[in-house]
Amino acid sequence: MSNHLFDTLTAFIPDLEKDFLKNPDGSVLTYKEMLARSSQYAGALVKLGIKPDDRVAVQVEKSSDALMLYLGVIRAGAVFVPLNSAYTPSEMSFFISDAEPALFVCDPVNADALAGIAQKEGVKLHTLDAEGRGSLSTLADSMPTSFDTRPRDGENLAAILYTSGTTGRSKGAMLSHENLVSNSLTMKKVWRFTEDDVLLHAMPIFHAHGLFVATNCLMMAGGSLLFLPKFDLEQVLELLPKATAMMGVPTFYTRLLGSDAFTRDLVRHMRVFISGSAPLSAEVHKEFAQRTGHSIIERYGMTETSMNTSNPYDGERRPGSVGFPLPGVGLRIVDEKTGREVSPGEVGIIEVKGPNVFQGYWRMPAKTAQEFRVDGYFITGDMGRVDEGGYISIVGRAKDLIISGGFNVYPAEVEAVLDSFEGVAESAVIGVPHPDFGEGVIAVLAAKPGETLSDDAIRASLTNQLAKFKQPKKFHVLDALPRNTMGKIQKNVLRERYQKDFA
Ligand code: AMP
Repeated sequence: MSNHLFDTLTAFIPDLEKDFLKNPDGSVLTYKEMLARSSQYAGALVKLGIKPDDRVAVQVEKSSDALMLYLGVIRAGAVFVPLNSAYTPSEMSFFISDAEPALFVCDPVNADALAGIAQKEGVKLHTLDAEGRGSLSTLADSMPTSFDTRPRDGENLAAILYTSGTTGRSKGAMLSHENLVSNSLTMKKVWRFTEDDVLLHAMPIFHAHGLFVATNCLMMAGGSLLFLPKFDLEQVLELLPKATAMMGVPTFYTRLLGSDAFTRDLVRHMRVFISGSAPLSAEVHKEFAQRTGHSIIERYGMTETSMNTSNPYDGERRPGSVGFPLPGVGLRIVDEKTGREVSPGEVGIIEVKGPNVFQGYWRMPAKTAQEFRVDGYFITGDMGRVDEGGYISIVGRAKDLIISGGFNVYPAEVEAVLDSFEGVAESAVIGVPHPDFGEGVIAVLAAKPGETLSDDAIRASLTNQLAKFKQPKKFHVLDALPRNTMGKIQKNVLRERYQKDFA
């Protein structure tokens, strides 16, 4: 009997003495130590009475022990439920009552505030801090360094990840062992990860990108992680020479480009840069290539499906495109109303099917049924188009589509034009209520350092580039656009803020 995910994660270890994870302070965890420490966490969980299929909810800062806890949960046969460390205690009360975990692990600083919630829900509470200390790690210290990993099949749940819930309440996406295994093996192959790779890991591990895409993929290649608590520009610049690969959200790449110390020489040795979780503007892609000689691989995925598409390793990595469907992933673009596939060049809703697609929303069978077609395709809610060469572009979430005067305005198209203007660092195009048009198009811009933006100049140059109905009727310039921890622009915040622009 095997544990599908853990066995695959550890099937490619080249040498037990090899570095698995390096912390910025220079301390190292070898693969052997990873096996020992994850055994101790699994042992601690069993000691606390955790049974297979129990949920273990975890809201802690990123640390190597937090990663060992993830592995410990999988080895104990339980279901890992990571939660954004920015959630407040009152937000946590929803997640705890919804996930009904058997154990909740939080940062010691929040323990008092969360004790009441845990008690009310009848959940055991333990702690783990950013240095890997706390009541759970103390219990783990007392456990044996080997553990008889509990068997789990492909269809058993490995994790529940809550969606960010920018429209309505967060939903728990149920991911099986096979969902995670199949996708990570595919990514390893497509992006050519090997045991020689050292991945600079600066993303949070409560999200699929940092936890599964980055960590699982590297483990399944037998490579090493340079494990940073967060993206810190100075630290990243210092560590890049020691890495071969970097995965990140687009803001990581714009921040690197903002530094004069980020030079071609610094990253000449790098094998690959990968971006996802939010759109990478074609401008940033091109500027990065000019500065470094590296063409970033942009890929597209979501919590519910892990990775769906990627630009090719060999061949053109096209700016503004998310590439082709990954091997094994069925992807079609359909008309929202008729459900029929649209022709190349036309915009429709992206639907996907494959071993990567999740098992449904936790305890929401009606919502789950709504989001799947009868033939098993999952309706992603993203709108996109495919060109004649098969390259897919995302034009935005369906909910961000603007309908102005009866015409569809795809924000990504307008944003791409705005981004190409001298002095524009980033842009967001949104629709807000308009008395005549239903929705009016608004652009929110941020300027590059030292630049000032003139509405009139931008408005004048848009005239030749975009049909009148797509041109923003108002412009707002901010120092920076509001983003969540994964670098996604929070359009809901902007819509709220500019609600009354045309009132
Ligand atoms: P999450 O579930 O937090 O990973 O968010 C998934 C959503 O992020 C997708 O449904 C897309 O809307 C967006 N997304 C992810 N990758 C990309 C990308 N490369 N380009 C544009 N949008 C993306």
